[in-house]
Amino acid sequence: MRTEPLIYELSKPGRRGISVPEPDVPVQEIPANLQRDSLGLPEVSEIDVIRHFTRLSHLNHAIDIDFYPLGSCTMKYNPKINELMSKLPGYGSIHPEQDPATIQGAMELMYELQEMLGEISGFHQVSLQPAAGAHGELTGVLMARAYFEKRGEHQRRTVLVPDSAHGTNPATAAMAGFDVVTVPSDDRGNADVEKLRELVGPDTAALMITNPNTLGLWDESIMEVVDIVHEAGGLVYNDGANFNAILGIARPGDLGIDIMHYNLHKTFSTPHGGGGPGSGPVGVAEHLAEYLPGPRVAKVDNGDVTYDWYQPKHTIGRIHGFHGNFGMHVRAYTYIRMNGAEGLRQISEDAVLAANYMMNKLKDRYTLRYDRTCMHEFVLSANQQKKNGVRALDIAKRLLDFGMHPPTVYFPLVVDEAMMIEPTETESIESLDKFIAAMIQIDEETKTNPDYVNSAPHDTFYKRLDEVGANRNLNLRWTEEKAEELVAAD
Ligand SMILES: *Cc1c(COP(=O)(O)O)cnc(C)c1O
Repeated sequence: MRTEPLIYELSKPGRRGISVPEPDVPVQEIPANLQRDSLGLPEVSEIDVIRHFTRLSHLNHAIDIDFYPLGSCTMKYNPKINELMSKLPGYGSIHPEQDPATIQGAMELMYELQEMLGEISGFHQVSLQPAAGAHGELTGVLMARAYFEKRGEHQRRTVLVPDSAHGTNPATAAMAGFDVVTVPSDDRGNADVEKLRELVGPDTAALMITNPNTLGLWDESIMEVVDIVHEAGGLVYNDGANFNAILGIARPGDLGIDIMHYNLHKTFSTPHGGGGPGSGPVGVAEHLAEYLPGPRVAKVDNGDVTYDWYQPKHTIGRIHGFHGNFGMHVRAYTYIRMNGAEGLRQISEDAVLAANYMMNKLKDRYTLRYDRTCMHEFVLSANQQKKNGVRALDIAKRLLDFGMHPPTVYFPLVVDEAMMIEPTETESIESLDKFIAAMIQIDEETKTNPDYVNSAPHDTFYKRLDEVGANRNLNLRWTEEKAEELVAAD
């Protein structure tokens, strides 16, 4: 079935993509213990490489090709001006170890981004160091730990996590050494306030809440939730990955949240998918500012230096080499400046409108677990389709035939056969309608021809893959024997 060659199979002895000039410095012998006979790298020309990877890219889906409603991931279009700005030599060609006096423009950009993120979300200070959302969560939880240690409250070992939180929340808390206790949802999809009251106590370090949650719902009791945790002496962490729903409308800092991470690679349109790099800054209320990872950028009055590195007093230390993924800071800064305050609010209004439009067009066909106005995303269940033997995974595969990326499936865990759909604000009404029509057609097919859905995709280069095998026996290492095996199996 596989007909695309691997790059190693294109290799021809002696073929080169680059030519290295003759050295103009004395040649040094490389110590024998650092030498290898063979690196096993493919020998290919530049055009071989370009064509190979361009061909591969055509086999894949991307936000620049078509609709990508991957719930919780906010796969919005990445404006190309962000890319252009991040490559300006003053941003793209500097080194993090340069004297601050020579990179004042870049440091000003970081300072302003810290300030803007703080302003948008109502937080006192922001650190740009974390490299992703989950990394921001870890940073936040480590800060909570340092905060309670400093106060001598060593017994605060428990982190409460609602069952509608993103999976990274309990994982992060456990990784940081806390005991994780689950808070159930009530029948409207909010954190159950009565249960929360029973669960908080002198051992509570924090509540980690995802709001809007992974059902795409705004927690209607958020103020009460925050008060309950604060009264018990704990901190409230908000997973801000779903910030796209509330820009310019609500500020988590104003709701009493103590710590939040942002996903620049979601809300603020810096690219993701394919492994990053991402950026997950962390914002905090005033009482936690001195625990932030350092160094941060501070505004000083120091002769030719207006912006300098600053080490917070009780800092948890570095959590990233140098200063975070600076290229992402430039992209997010550009996005915020291009949109302005009113533009940011419009983004959220349009994202919420798009999600509610789709939800209402599809809820007669697919089960909607919580029939409430949603935020930036909504979760449908394929439990009716399952009666005909068609599961959420089959629907996801069938959508590939329509040239669209499937939604997130089987998450959140609280919904059976879940499909988590996030259209984002960047899609036109035509692409929303195209997806709705595809979902309706697939529902019809589950009644008339379920086998056709179950054997999808039909029109993609690769058909249905052995995902269990790929997970259990993942093998990314190319060997000649393996290649021969594959050819023989074809
Ligand atoms: C994406 C996401 C995360 C994790 O962010 P990464 O950048 O992927 O580490 C955490 N919480 C929610 C709600 C998310 O959507």
